[in-house]
Amino acid sequence: MANTKYVFVTGGVTSSLGKGIIAASLAKLLQERGYRVTIQKFDPYINIDPGTLNPYEHGECFVTDDGAETDLDLGHYERFLDVRTSQANNVTTGRVYQSVIDKERKGEFLGKTVQVVPHITNEIKDRIQILGKSGNYDVVITELGGTVGDIESLPYVESVRQLTWELGEHNAVVIHLTLIPYLAAAGELKTKPTQHSVKMMMQNGLNPDILVCRSEHFIPDEIKRKLALFCNVQKEDVISSLDAETIYDVPNLMLHEGLDKVVLKKLAMTSTKEPKLIEWNKFVEKHKNPLHKVKIGVIGKYVELQDAYKSIAEAFIHAGSSQRIKVKVEWIHSEEINQENITKKLHGLSGIMVAPGFGNRGTEGKIETIKYARENNIPFMGICLGMQMAVIEFARNVVGLDGANSTEMFDNLKYPVINLMQDQKEVTDMGGTMRLGAWGCQLDHDSKAYKAYNQTIISERHRHRYEFNSNFKEQIETAGMKATGINPKTGLVEVVEIPSHPWFVAVQYHPEYKSTVLNPHPLFVDFVNASLEHVQSK
Ligand code: GLN
Repeated sequence: MANTKYVFVTGGVTSSLGKGIIAASLAKLLQERGYRVTIQKFDPYINIDPGTLNPYEHGECFVTDDGAETDLDLGHYERFLDVRTSQANNVTTGRVYQSVIDKERKGEFLGKTVQVVPHITNEIKDRIQILGKSGNYDVVITELGGTVGDIESLPYVESVRQLTWELGEHNAVVIHLTLIPYLAAAGELKTKPTQHSVKMMMQNGLNPDILVCRSEHFIPDEIKRKLALFCNVQKEDVISSLDAETIYDVPNLMLHEGLDKVVLKKLAMTSTKEPKLIEWNKFVEKHKNPLHKVKIGVIGKYVELQDAYKSIAEAFIHAGSSQRIKVKVEWIHSEEINQENITKKLHGLSGIMVAPGFGNRGTEGKIETIKYARENNIPFMGICLGMQMAVIEFARNVVGLDGANSTEMFDNLKYPVINLMQDQKEVTDMGGTMRLGAWGCQLDHDSKAYKAYNQTIISERHRHRYEFNSNFKEQIETAGMKATGINPKTGLVEVVEIPSHPWFVAVQYHPEYKSTVLNPHPLFVDFVNASLEHVQSK
């Protein structure tokens, strides 16, 4: 018998119902009961990972400590659970096929015809169980991306069907997340789409054990009974998930609905500990009852789609709540900012952040923004490309290096203050080849970063190809911008600051990936506090 229990979360009717949040909320409740839980996501697309996907297509690419470029749901898992994820927590169809094809070339299936069933499904089943077999977890929750009924989801549904059978009774449970739409004209909640999506699953041999029903309206008992009858589950296995004010309410809603209890019952797990969510609820309470307010402008080029900056948005919530400050984020398109309109565009901001990004589009607006923040003493935080732009702005406007830029934007620059990293020069493949994952950084004691972290050696996650060109370091430092964080092994500049400015800190790494509900990121906390001070001083 397996030691680890498996929970599968599938989706029906439509995408964007929030499978990731439901999975993370269930995991949180089980964790509160004392279980060791992890969550993984299987994505049915052919890309090996989302690293090569445009943020407009797929939202933010989340990066793990071990350098995996992953789906943004992994960010939710880490933020909810405070447990690190890794490469094993996100698998795509591309990766599954790549590995099966590699094995075929090595001759591992010699003589056999390699097929979706059993070779692809075996590979999926193996990968589902990797974390479970590590012995580190009591429960592994596996979220299947996409919607049941999609052509590309079929091998996953079949793998889950086989695996639940192989694991045997009480070792696996399937939760199907679905939508119960409300027809205003009829004044009715409709169960038919759910019935159809469950029938589709059943045609593939998989019967959900639990239905989690998203709805804008209260789901009365008679609707639950109807759903139970037509979907082959018990009435108590129909859980409603009404729209919440914030995603951070969902663990409480699921606790109230007893999702953890039905899951444990089906897995024959006896737990005497009730989830209390004490620390969690302190966070929610502070988040909902702030004493102060700041308005922070985030300047980026993917602002139409806020999912593109998911971790940044969440990091502001964590930091703000910890200080009882409501952080209102104003998302501003970098392409729309120019010398003429800048004062109007950035008027009334308590703090300014320039976001990460790739390519030349919108960079001049970012540079104008940084100049404005620097000259007007407005707290400024730059992340990755935002840091590189801060160096360029300073080089151009303070050091006097006219036309300074990054070689990412133009070749043959007179002042390439941001340059391709040495080990990137030979790289030709685009996928998974950036400087990725956690790297160490040593902070100068006499810096704002050190004050924020209260630590000399930090570790932060990266995702970039370009770096601060150290040939210009002396000139830039003499003019007043200091490199206050350095990678001790490579000498790479990780943090720059302007000590004469009230709060100007820009980092090559991505602090947002490590912020969690219970551990807000120190740099975000410090930035939010500096922004409040800026408002109060006026
Ligand atoms: N485009 C920049 C680089 O590759 C910055 C990347 C980022 O902001 N994540 O170095």
